[in-house]
Amino acid sequence: MKDLQIEKLIKAEEKRQKSVVNLIASENYVSDDVLKALGSKLTNKYAEGYPGARYYGGNEVVDKIENLAKERALKAFKLSKKTWGVNVQPLSGSPANVAVYLALVPVGGKIMGMSLDHGGHLTHGHKVSITGKVWDQIAYGVDPKTERIDYDVLKTLAKKEKPNLIVAGFTAYPRKVDWKKMREVADSCGAILMVDMSHIAGLVAGGAYPTPFKYAHIVTTTVHKTLRGPRAAIIFSKTELSKKIDKAVFPGMQGGPHINQIAGVAVALKEASDASFKIYAKQVIKNAQALAKELQNLGWRIVSGGTDTHLLLVDTMSQGISGKEASDRLESEGIIVNMNTIPNDRRKPMDPSGIRLGTAGETTRGKKEKDMIALAKRIDKILKS
Ligand SMILES: *Cc1c(COP(=O)(O)O)cnc(C)c1O
Repeated sequence: MKDLQIEKLIKAEEKRQKSVVNLIASENYVSDDVLKALGSKLTNKYAEGYPGARYYGGNEVVDKIENLAKERALKAFKLSKKTWGVNVQPLSGSPANVAVYLALVPVGGKIMGMSLDHGGHLTHGHKVSITGKVWDQIAYGVDPKTERIDYDVLKTLAKKEKPNLIVAGFTAYPRKVDWKKMREVADSCGAILMVDMSHIAGLVAGGAYPTPFKYAHIVTTTVHKTLRGPRAAIIFSKTELSKKIDKAVFPGMQGGPHINQIAGVAVALKEASDASFKIYAKQVIKNAQALAKELQNLGWRIVSGGTDTHLLLVDTMSQGISGKEASDRLESEGIIVNMNTIPNDRRKPMDPSGIRLGTAGETTRGKKEKDMIALAKRIDKILKS
């Protein structure tokens, strides 16, 4: 690189990434092939529109790339072109979700989503997000005792509020979601069911977590979490809704798609369709469960009593330490986590009662259950010292 300043910083970040234990649940490590696609000359091309219908010339190669990404997206989740449409242009998870609402919910309409402090995402209608300003959030949470979703409570709320769309999918919910029951909740009030599987997409692709496609009208996902691809998002829609979705992504939300990123998505989806990815997805969950169990053995309360996914929430206040302090102390010892609210948290988001741990990244780096047990012991020692 001629730009020595930036080159030095890239090197420094690479070194940092190598030197830490990374338990951030939303991060992962992409393959060299994904990096190659991202860093390719595809970034030079403008391609507003869709394959076969672009507003610029010179797209004969780019069309093939986007079509391949779409094909691979369907294949990775075992979907038929007859019933599912797919859009690979969203620049990231947040704009993908906004595009869905733009397509399907009238301005001022109601979006029923999990509140942020119970494990929802900002783009599920939180008031600081555009999704809470243009649309009205009907917030739901988890049961205070079980810390799991109570579908009967959701159904009562849905019948009372009659939302246009229900979002199922979370950033900090460690348990399996009963997609069938979610669909029943949506049907009870005639709402569209949108599953935001951003966190768990890789687990679904690897067959280690129940697929939502049998019950959802729309499925959105980021590509960069458990799916282990570049920062990007995909929207799947039942074919009768796909035209509206495509129009909302472009020209509704975005201009030209990032073709280098779409090529990276295609590479990641091929990797996720490989038999080895099944083993990876299973190992991610086994590692999270081993980590949770050992922390429990050492006296830490795990929200909902454990995990069925790649992530767990540790109630650090159960040992008298706040989430922020826990996160800071771990970071000073080279373990990177994020502080997180726990359901019904009495503390504030900037200094909540817990931390969120995820195993997707460290599993990519080859870690197994025994490493997780050792890691739990290290975490325990750091936090109790
Ligand atoms: C990460 C995430 C998003 C947002 O993705 P960005 O790429 O950060 O915009 C949306 N929804 C859920 C559930 C997520 O976990």
